[in-house]
Amino acid sequence: MTRLDVPTVRERRTPTRTGRRYLVRTFGCQMNEHDSERLAGLFEEDGMVAAAGMDDADVVLLNTCCIRENADNRLYGNLGQLKALKDERPGMQIMVAGCLAQKDRETVRTKAPWVDVVFGTHNLHRAITLLDHSEEWGPVTELWDETTSIDDVPSTLPTRRETPHSAWVTVTIGCNNGCTFCIVPLVRGREISRRPGDIVREIRELATDGVVEVTLLGQNVNSYGRDLAFDGKRRPLFAELLRGVGEIEGIERVRFTSPHPKDIKEDVLVAMAETTNVCEQLHLPLQSGSSSVLRAMHRGYTPDRFLEKLRLAESTIPGLATSTDVIVGFPGESEADFRGTLDVMSEARFDSAYMFIYSSRPGTPAAMLDQQVPREVASERFDRLVALQREITLEKNSDLIGTMVSLLAEGPSHKDRTMATGRTRGNKIVHVPGSVAAGSFFRAEIEASAPSHLMGRALS
Ligand code: SF4
Repeated sequence: MTRLDVPTVRERRTPTRTGRRYLVRTFGCQMNEHDSERLAGLFEEDGMVAAAGMDDADVVLLNTCCIRENADNRLYGNLGQLKALKDERPGMQIMVAGCLAQKDRETVRTKAPWVDVVFGTHNLHRAITLLDHSEEWGPVTELWDETTSIDDVPSTLPTRRETPHSAWVTVTIGCNNGCTFCIVPLVRGREISRRPGDIVREIRELATDGVVEVTLLGQNVNSYGRDLAFDGKRRPLFAELLRGVGEIEGIERVRFTSPHPKDIKEDVLVAMAETTNVCEQLHLPLQSGSSSVLRAMHRGYTPDRFLEKLRLAESTIPGLATSTDVIVGFPGESEADFRGTLDVMSEARFDSAYMFIYSSRPGTPAAMLDQQVPREVASERFDRLVALQREITLEKNSDLIGTMVSLLAEGPSHKDRTMATGRTRGNKIVHVPGSVAAGSFFRAEIEASAPSHLMGRALS
């Protein structure tokens, strides 16, 4: 056994809440959703079962996020509803976890004293212990635990996965960058990488459990491993991790999110191209197509440099599908800056884009900047950007008509139960008539396209 293979051991306790019902409500990003799966796993390990809704839950956990807009309004709206329920059923326990709980713990306490436990992102593993403490001593607030290591954070906790055949796997937590619009460094702390042995072991176990697709998660996956040192030997970096994960038997698809454009290097692109199980899909967040806005955002690249990296990725990985994030109306963004974004988007021709109107996050450097763009100006720009991207997405989807694709079935379509939904390696949704078992692979011919999906027919 090498040092990389030394397992992390977590003590299990005897279930103490057998039969009690829990509900986890998630307000955030993929990282939050993954944390929620871990929290649900901890509740189930303690004997609890999932509740149908708030009304019949004994323990309600709100997993908050301060990246998304209106997160605090949604939180306090839910807490108001829960207060009424708790007045009727005083035995009900309410927990608030996640980024907003980390950042605004005192406010949560003051505004909602009926909450039993408030705890931050670095204390997920202590959820059950905190619940015990609150039963014994009354309301508990758990702050940042400086002794917490990556071994305590979601990696070794039990999971209740929403999708049996797909799983998220955390590779890093925190972020060492300082994008001025982003709250993550404040609430998730410095970047810590999981040991590669632990990641590979977790994925092997997932494969044994029937998982065929994994998505490696980190705020900036490209800096994975920079903080790891093993007896002075070379640190395992992301390209190596990708190759290792891609070789795990039973795992047919490997995805990751997100790389930072300034950090993505050729070694990762080559590893993607050479590792069959790594999907030809890259999410590369542009944020803005203006040099001056990118500078104000502290992103560390120019539009030209971004496009160079994108072209390198496309030439290295045949058939690559790309996506991005864009923020419209960052403080100081002029019409010329915005036109720069439209130009880069036209040139990049992403398959899809997540587009947002800038909204200030208290505590971030950008919140202090002058020249906030009026909401109506930002909205008008946003509409133009969405219209452009819609056109590009439709053109790119139309290019696939007549081609054969490999799909991983996700089950019946949400809108039409007579159709089955599958996902391509490039992460596009395809609906086909009939039914295909979720988690199985099948081939289809693409017959029609729309901006949000493709239509096809399954090939036998
Ligand atoms: S890279 Fe920037 S945007 Fe992404 S998590 Fe780190 S600070 Fe936030």
